[in-house]
Amino acid sequence: MGRMSDKHLKDEWSDEEIAAAVHDNVVMTWSNSANRNELPRIVRGEGVYLYDSAGKQYMDFTSQAVCTNMGYTLDEGVKQAVVKQMENLFYVYPGMAMTEVRARLCNLLAEITPGDINGFLFPLGGSEANEGAIRIARRYTGKSKIMSAMRSYHGGTAGPLAATGDFRTRFVGEQMGFVKIFNPHTLRFSTGASDEVAALQSLSMLEEQIMCEGPDTIAAILLETIVGANGVFLHPVGYLEGVRALCDKYNILLILDEVMCGFWRTGPLFAFQHFPGVVPDILTSAKGLTSSILPLGMIGIRQKIKDHFESNALGWGATYANHPVLLACAYEVVRKNYQACLEKRVSEIESVMLREIDMLIRRHRCVLQGRVIGAFACLDLVNKDGHSLNLLGEALPKEALVVKNSLAKHGLIGLFRSPMMHICPPLVMSNTELQEMFSRIGRVLDDLDAALEGNESTMA
Ligand code: PLP
Repeated sequence: MGRMSDKHLKDEWSDEEIAAAVHDNVVMTWSNSANRNELPRIVRGEGVYLYDSAGKQYMDFTSQAVCTNMGYTLDEGVKQAVVKQMENLFYVYPGMAMTEVRARLCNLLAEITPGDINGFLFPLGGSEANEGAIRIARRYTGKSKIMSAMRSYHGGTAGPLAATGDFRTRFVGEQMGFVKIFNPHTLRFSTGASDEVAALQSLSMLEEQIMCEGPDTIAAILLETIVGANGVFLHPVGYLEGVRALCDKYNILLILDEVMCGFWRTGPLFAFQHFPGVVPDILTSAKGLTSSILPLGMIGIRQKIKDHFESNALGWGATYANHPVLLACAYEVVRKNYQACLEKRVSEIESVMLREIDMLIRRHRCVLQGRVIGAFACLDLVNKDGHSLNLLGEALPKEALVVKNSLAKHGLIGLFRSPMMHICPPLVMSNTELQEMFSRIGRVLDDLDAALEGNESTMA
């Protein structure tokens, strides 16, 4: 090695050349790399469909990682804004100079975000946004502990992964200053008979934990406004309001992570708008902000925190923070979706989702229950004994492989994290396409039902 080979002078590579490079040089993220040559090689996207190198069409039923909210047909306005920014000025170091697009995007977000969240900065993605939020909370309060939920995901870098409760937290090793709290959601244990009781009991447990840890050691409580990757869990009535009140009582900041649920995924611009009176002190997001056309994260801070950092160093930054080309993309995506009243369309999608998911639960033995808010839904899959297919992080059972194979067979692509089946279509999906998506999902669940009956012939 040490010399560029002639194949890099060719515009097109053969399938064999690509497969060899994937095998020899590609390293996967999160999982081991053994399956890298089995992944479909996606070459094109259009509308809500992706196409692989063999021409096979896949319908995207989870907006990939709940991020390609606008689907795959590139909006002409977004394209023009990005190209214009690239041609005029593709980069300035964020601490060295200001740009118009930075001023515009911060101003637009301050206008449309409820409450006094008036200050904004833009890292490269959701993990970095939460990393920055944790730093800001610690520097603002002078305290260090971050409390977060067991059933949560906050990102792959050290701080957010330590705050994460799901199995991925094991990859970060020992990190100081992170404390886990129980979610108020009843899945495998009971926190009370009704929503209200569950909320009250969880809140009193949380208050006790705050007292034990010492309120003067806790910088922030970091929660997903609606738990996303761990199952689309909606907080029981009164819970988030109660957490907000506890934060106020004990002088703790509330950070809401809307990396997945922000930017109209659940209906309103931000999911915290479902909870009257709740405004986070720090709000993070990413994904839908640019619809993944380009990578970008967001940190929003309330006026009091913004004021504090007028005369105190914020103490966080990166070369590509506030990158003008990425901001141009976000500005166009956000103003376009705002003008188009995306919230209204998502509420129409929600009606279809509620009806169809109800039908899937009733029709399929393998579906225990489901949850829906906006275009954000999840089904819990069970085995023939009615037990969850697996625990998160356990080796996949054969039923999960049935689902994986069946998704590809029925032309669906998306993130499947057994035992959860997320259903989070791109927000541009039409009603006809929604029907088509649910009928394909129904066929996948038929295959799983048949496998549970022991009729493995449908598994091919
Ligand atoms: N927070 C939440 C709630 C997420 O769902 C994710 C990613 O799925 C992240 C943070 C991390 O974002 P990213 O993958 O852009 O770093």
